[in-house]
Amino acid sequence: MSMTLKIVQAGDPVLRQAARPLSEDEIRGAAIQQLIVLMRETMRDAPGVGLAAPQIGESIRLLVIEDRAEYQQGIAPERLAERERAPVPFQVIANPVLTVLDPSPRRFFEGCLSVSGFAAITARHANVRVDGLDEHAEPVSIAARGWYARILQHEIDHLDGTLYVDRMLTRSFMTDASYRKHWLDRSVAEVSAALGRNE
Ligand code: ZN
Repeated sequence: MSMTLKIVQAGDPVLRQAARPLSEDEIRGAAIQQLIVLMRETMRDAPGVGLAAPQIGESIRLLVIEDRAEYQQGIAPERLAERERAPVPFQVIANPVLTVLDPSPRRFFEGCLSVSGFAAITARHANVRVDGLDEHAEPVSIAARGWYARILQHEIDHLDGTLYVDRMLTRSFMTDASYRKHWLDRSVAEVSAALGRNE
């Protein structure tokens, strides 16, 4: 049996704060090492593809990500291809710094474990680099595009008090149930045409 942490929801002030950086000693210390394990279990239990520390009430610059192959089962290959979505191994990043390598917008539905039950079309940069520290406080540099880049941008936003609802196309905001009922197998272009653009 694994322990999980409570994921705070939109409206909790911690989600709107700028989180503080971690020292290398803190990252290597027992408290953060234990927190990383709990964040991993909480993310997997949700399940989600990323979790930032503010989402479990800790205002520190720490995130975990993982996009498992099993999460992608049942999604049509063409949907995975247009999202440039492929499995991402479990990774820990502390004090991440985002560099945009290609700012071309990529628009897809996105959700958040802290805005539970909803989704909206959200534009993200196509290609980014993230520099930070791993769980051993060793430097790590990640070049990511497509869905991987989206996950990283979403989680790093959390460390600056930003939610996807701040960036979404507001007319596409909907419940997960409506998404599954009406839009799951439609292209983003079709959805935009049907719901109206507001970008
Ligand atoms: Zn989120």
